[in-house]
Amino acid sequence: MALDSETRAQLIDTVRRFVAERLRPIEAKVADDNQVPDEVIEEMKGLGLFGLSIPEEYGGLDLSMEEECLVGIELGKASPAFRSAFGTNVGIGSQGLVMFGTEAQKQKYLPGIASGEIVTSFALTEPEAGSDSASVQTRARLEGDHYVLDGTKRYITNAGRAHLFTVMARTNPDVKGAGGVSAFLVPRDTPGLTVGKSEKKMGQQGAHIHDVVFEGVKVPVENRLGEEGQGFRVAMQVLDRGRLHISAVCVGVAERLLADSVAYAQERKQFGKPIAEQQLIQAMIADSKTEALAARALTLETARKRDAGEGVTLEAAAAKLYASEMVGRVADRAVQIFGGAGYVADYGIERLYRDVRIFRIYEGTSEIQRVIVARETLKRGG
Ligand SMILES: Cc1cc2nc3c(=O)[nH]c(=O)nc-3n(C[C@H](O)[C@H](O)[C@H](O)COP(=O)(O)OP(=O)(O)OC[C@H]3O[C@@H](n4cnc5c(N)ncnc54)[C@H](O)[C@@H]3O)c2cc1C
Repeated sequence: MALDSETRAQLIDTVRRFVAERLRPIEAKVADDNQVPDEVIEEMKGLGLFGLSIPEEYGGLDLSMEEECLVGIELGKASPAFRSAFGTNVGIGSQGLVMFGTEAQKQKYLPGIASGEIVTSFALTEPEAGSDSASVQTRARLEGDHYVLDGTKRYITNAGRAHLFTVMARTNPDVKGAGGVSAFLVPRDTPGLTVGKSEKKMGQQGAHIHDVVFEGVKVPVENRLGEEGQGFRVAMQVLDRGRLHISAVCVGVAERLLADSVAYAQERKQFGKPIAEQQLIQAMIADSKTEALAARALTLETARKRDAGEGVTLEAAAAKLYASEMVGRVADRAVQIFGGAGYVADYGIERLYRDVRIFRIYEGTSEIQRVIVARETLKRGG
């Protein structure tokens, strides 16, 4: 449901101020501590950030995709690790439930997800199933009124804090690909479920990923999400949506890097004048600005199409491909504009350069986005 224009402007303004006044000043500390402080997470809950995409009847803000993207752009202007604290609740950890859940499942979990009381994770990737996600090996055997899950999930965002996992597991071993996979809602405290250590990563310190191991985990039949064999469809629809959210965050980071680069270039003097007056610096600014504008336009246009009920598999993949590659180039140019200062930690530019690298990998790599764009374009005949 779309907000009226005044409420929407107010929400975006509130997020913008929260990012500028509360998150930006503590970015370096969060990276050093590898932890978003609990009091900041409480403030995020108070602002409704955990429930951005949850229907109003379950306590969420029920933003349209376009509105969620506008908020995502603002959130991108602080370290992406902050967004990660509630990102799974907004996207991959909740949307399977919103799209495919029964009324009883929604009543049970969505209010807690919207308030942030329940943190969610999405568990698709495995040691042997990454890009080829339809090949998941985690097994779910039906035994009477419950399934028994066995297997290992890898690189699961927020698993250390999660109370509820959406898990893709193979219910039919005779069906090798997507058709044999089903989705399950698995509470964290279910016996046999263990979460591994937090992995050391290149960037986004403060956001955490873990292995999640299932050993004889009993899940009641009523915790299956959708029909048996529908799990891959659940995952793909969740990812279609998630890719737009990620595109928006990439646009936000790029806009922030541009603002930082322009401010630095206007202040830093070499050869007797600000480096912003050098045309080779201006060329980098022009290229970054042009690409950021293009990514913003593609992301918001695709979000509006999705809000209008159109299928956007192709466009969401194209937006995620373009925006994530774009922000990598913008971050690289920002380091160049800052010179030596871009390479040392104090200015925060090298941190963002590392932070944005993951956008080309998770929720489908750039290569997988290209595969989707090509497949859908061939299907459409151009
Ligand atoms: C920080 C982080 C957070 C994550 N969060 C989650 C999460 O919450 N939940 C979750 O389920 N997963 C999560 N992941 C996993 C992530 O989605 C996968 O890492 C990603 O999909 C790639 O899978 P892979 O790492 O196995 O790489 P691989 O699939 O092994 O790919 C390796 C390389 O081969 C290329 N490649 C593979 N197949 C093809 C092909 N057909 N054509 C061309 N090139 C190809 C890839 O593009 C890549 O360049 C996360 C990962 C990270 C690092």
